[in-house]
Amino acid sequence: VEIEAVLRVEDLAKRYGAKPVLAGCTFELYAGQVTALVGANGAGKTTLLTVLSGLLAPDGGTVVACGRVALVAQDRPLYDHLSARDMLRMARHLNLVWDEDRATRWLRRFHVPPNRLCGRLSTGQRTQVALAVALGRVPDVLLLDEPLANLDPLVRNEVMAELLTEAAETEMALLMSTHVVAELGGVADNLLVLTHGTITLAGQIDDLLANHRFYVGPRSAS
Ligand code: ATP
Repeated sequence: VEIEAVLRVEDLAKRYGAKPVLAGCTFELYAGQVTALVGANGAGKTTLLTVLSGLLAPDGGTVVACGRVALVAQDRPLYDHLSARDMLRMARHLNLVWDEDRATRWLRRFHVPPNRLCGRLSTGQRTQVALAVALGRVPDVLLLDEPLANLDPLVRNEVMAELLTEAAETEMALLMSTHVVAELGGVADNLLVLTHGTITLAGQIDDLLANHRFYVGPRSAS
């Protein structure tokens, strides 16, 4: 079955000054599917996600998105002098499309104190606020830069489960970066491997695991 791509990236290139950081990146994202973006530190994951979000202009190639794209950036930028609740209120004013219920449900689900200033939240709680803001925008494509970093292992599973539910319910495409492949094992449909700024492996995770030998972390004992 052919699935329609919601984001199409072709021959994308990005330099910082003279230093090439991305080159020849070509891939697609699909509605309702989870794609893991895996690469070593410095491979260019953050740069790629930032370019896809539209916050950073590429030096070459094209990005075509069908619908809205939202990014949960690696540093979870928030207005630190606003409470978590006011952060959502602000987002409501800044976005033409905004699902208040969806955003506040996420904060409640992960027990973020709504009246605490964002600047006083833990790094894990900041991630939850950033996720709430991104989901409230009802994106067709959600870009997540190391979404599970700084979360407790138990909360990690809950966040992944909730994100999968949201993706399935709204046909949202998820692209999430990680340098721990095992983190997304059994979760992601597709895998993109970024090596020194170039996509060196792309496809359905099941196919890749069957046809390539690479280390994906310890297997569970069961
Ligand atoms: P990490 O897993 O450590 O976050 P990453 O895969 O996300 O790494 P990037 O943050 O995209 O990689 O960085 C890719 C390369 O570009 C690195 O060599 C980095 O030092 C460089 N780089 C990133 N941002 C800038 C910038 N603003 N100016 C110059 N070089 C940069």
